Amino acid sequence: MVTTETRREELKEVFTEARGCTRCPQLAATRTQVVFGAGNADADLMFVGEAPGAREDERGLPFVGAAGKMLEELLAGVGLQRDDVFIANVLKCRPPGNRDPAPVEIDNCQEYLFRQVELIRPKVICTLGNFSTKLLRADPTGITRLHGRPEIRVVGTRAVRLYPIHHPAAALYTRSLQDTLREDFARLPGLLEQPEPDQPETEETEPPDLVQNATDPEDHEDPGAEQLGLF
Ligand code: URA
Repeated sequence: MVTTETRREELKEVFTEARGCTRCPQLAATRTQVVFGAGNADADLMFVGEAPGAREDERGLPFVGAAGKMLEELLAGVGLQRDDVFIANVLKCRPPGNRDPAPVEIDNCQEYLFRQVELIRPKVICTLGNFSTKLLRADPTGITRLHGRPEIRVVGTRAVRLYPIHHPAAALYTRSLQDTLREDFARLPGLLEQPEPDQPETEETEPPDLVQNATDPEDHEDPGAEQLGLF
């Protein structure tokens, strides 16, 4: 039986590996630091955004800029705080100039996200915007058609209730989306009350090999104290 503490420790190991990742040479060269994700490592609810922006890259934490403020307000509206949930992104490094994540970067990084899902075991994953929705549904259908419609999906090895909603940053630019976002958020408490979906039959498999692209762990004996303290 895998305990919560074991899963949390394994999550820290994945973080340590991700911190030294150089799979995307441009991102590794331009980032200030890897933004792994933060929050409750045993959360029922996980949010997946797109990629860190300038503020996130600076602080090493996801959603700490304007979009993060909006996310916090939306959470408060349904009686939740950041510490109740886990927040991550499709990419763990900031794309320079806040450009869109490149397909090859999404490919390179997805293993970290799937490992996060496997270890955190959320009941509900709320995808924020197009990039995370398309990745976790493995389908190109866009957020405009899908938002507010929960469905059961297998993400990596876990069956979850996947709930696509608009990205809070989009609502900052298009005010009419704010009401839509609030309406979609209002369905979250009900979704969280639903039972966890049946899990797929799993074969005992080796964990994915993340080590190949990490740098020497000796270089990282003090893994990002601020980030680690947050899950
Ligand atoms: N937008 C995202 O998608 N992620 C962040 O962490 C911040 C802004």
